[in-house]
Parts: sequence; structure tokens; C-alpha cells
Amino acid sequence: MKGFLKAGIFFTLPFLLGGCAQGRPALQQSAGTAMGTVAQFQVYTTSPQTDVTGSLLQQVRILEQEALSRRLETSQIWKVNELAGSGGEVELTERLGEVISFGLELGQASGGAFDIALGPLAALWDIDGWAGGKKDGEFTPPKEEAVAKALSRSGSRRVTFRPARLGNPPAIALKKEAALDLGALGKGAAMEELLSALEAAPSVTGAVLSLGGSVLTYGEKPDGTAWRVGVADPKNPSRRMGVLTLRGQWCVSTSGDYERYVEADGTRYHHILDPATGYPADSGLSAVTVVCKSGLLSDGLSTACFVLGREKGLALAAEYGAEALLVEKDGDVAMTPGMERLFEAVRED
Ligand code: AMP
Ligand code: MG
Repeated sequence: MKGFLKAGIFFTLPFLLGGCAQGRPALQQSAGTAMGTVAQFQVYTTSPQTDVTGSLLQQVRILEQEALSRRLETSQIWKVNELAGSGGEVELTERLGEVISFGLELGQASGGAFDIALGPLAALWDIDGWAGGKKDGEFTPPKEEAVAKALSRSGSRRVTFRPARLGNPPAIALKKEAALDLGALGKGAAMEELLSALEAAPSVTGAVLSLGGSVLTYGEKPDGTAWRVGVADPKNPSRRMGVLTLRGQWCVSTSGDYERYVEADGTRYHHILDPATGYPADSGLSAVTVVCKSGLLSDGLSTACFVLGREKGLALAAEYGAEALLVEKDGDVAMTPGMERLFEAVRED
């Protein structure tokens, strides 16, 4: 009798708590803000009494606070920037070392279009201050001399990075007034952490986690259908221009001139800077979406391809074996061949 009771409690408890009888996964959802953007997490889990989405969101916030933020005094990047020009090296965690090392590599591969050391320019343009959006008249673009000065302090040639070696942690030193800005890789780094967390949670059977312009898909939906990830129309971002159909684990990142911008005298200034000029990139594109397995790669490549423009952007994506969709300002779309199999245009009127 006792055994029967125990078995009864064991089987009915999950059903009562989460509506997932006999191990059928239940959907857990949460929305919040992290890394200055909106996070929307959906997880299918056979253990719905555990707050999986809440702890994933917390993990992203910790990554921002402890490692990546340029503004929070608690982060390693803040410390690195603070000690620029002091002559001393700052030791990094292995994970942050990997993010920086990847950023420097992509900088080289993109011929300098991607650069993790644009901190002085990002500060001059006050990109972080645009988060809530500004109206015409509330923003005055910086003067040419100020851009030239910030440009001279920017760039990864002002960074000395020592990878982890023989048990020593990675370390970094910046020249005077240089500063790192990992804004183009932060969401991708978060996707990689989130993926590790999902892989370590056997009760999670599938998930789609979206953080600003980056989305991670993982596992399967209980009904066996594919994940469908919307691609925003850059001209009207509340609508979709198409949908990606994906099975299993993928990372999707979009960089667009509509994601963060200000307007002054009818000109739009967006948040993706051209390291060659110090001004918002003007490559003829208004958005780039990249699909690949790695979050760092999708996030980094979408930014790099945006700066490079159509032809060089397609070539860089191909070099990394990633799929890319590039939307030109006039609405024309270019894709890598593999993207054509994943993307389907939709009209939303
Ligand atoms: P994303 O939205 O991923 O394309 O990243 C844009 C963010 O990365 C900006 O808000 C800046 O913080 C930073 N950023 C801007 N331009 C570049 C660039 N050319 N290379 C690397 N990071 C950049
Ligand atoms: Mg990016």
C-alpha cells in the first residue's frame, strides 16, 4: 500500500504542477530585459516545477555584470578599460579570453570592418544612451574633429592580448585612452552560455531563446514541427519580411540600422560604426541576418557583414561556412545558397 501511494504521488505531482503527464514536455515562457535589450525565452521541459527560463535569464545578467558590460564597474571589461594606459595587464577568465580572441580574429578576417576596440567612438556617439530612442532635435551629431580624435583612440592595434598558455590565464592591456566595446558579440556570447546550460539540463527537450537581435534554437518541439524564426522587415521592423525554418540547434543573429538609432535633421545615425571612418556604416545595407551553429560567429558576422556590404559580406560569410541574408536599403535581398533553403519570404499587410 505504501509503495502504491508513493508511486501515485510520484506520477501525479508533475501532472498537477506543470500539466505534463507521463514526461510529455510542458512549455515554460518568460520575458525580461538583459544586456540593454528584450529577452524572450521559451523552453520545453519535462521538469516544469524547475524555473528554467528564470535561471537562464539570470545567467545572461550575470554574464553582463561580471564580464561584458562597458558601463558596470563590476565587469572585467570595465576594469580593462579603466586600466588603459597604466602599463599593467589585466587577467581575464578563460571564457572572456575566448570571446576577445574570436573578436580579434574576426577583425583580421574582415579586414578591420569588425573591431572590438571601438569604445572611444561608441562613447562619443553615446550609443548606449540611444536605447530608449530619441526624437529629432534631441540629438546633435558629434563634430568632425571629435570623431577624428575618437577614431585615433579606437582600433584593435591599440590592444595587446595574450592568450591562455601553460596554465596562465589570458590577459590584455590597452594603450592610453583606448577602450573595448563588446556590444557586437555580447548576445552571441550569451547564446553560447545558454546553449551550454541547456545541454546540461536533461529535462529540457527543446528551446527557442531570443535576446535582442539574436536567437538560439535547441532540440525539438513536442509536436515534431520545425522552429520558425521571423526576420524583421528593416523598413517596418514590427512586421516580418520572412521566416527561417530550422531544425535542432542553430544561432540566428541580425544586425540592422533600425535596431538602435537616432535622427537629426532628417538623417538617421545608427549603431553600427565603420572603423574606417568613425561614422555609422554606409555600405548600402539596412540589415544582415546570419545563421550558423555558433552564437559568437553569428553575432560577430552579422555586424561585420553589415559594415562590409553586399559582395564582401557574402564572401566573408562563405569563408566561415555561415549562411547570410543581406537586405539592401532599397529592399533588394541577397543570400548565400544555403540560406535560400532556410528562408521563405512572407508578406504581412
Ligand atoms: P550588433 O547589434 O551585434 O550588430 O552590434 C552593434 C554594437 O557593436 C554597437 O552597439 C557597438 O557597441 C558595437 N559596434 C559598432 N560598430 C562595430 C564594428 N564595426 N565592429 C564591432 N563592434 C561594433
Ligand atoms: Mg553582432
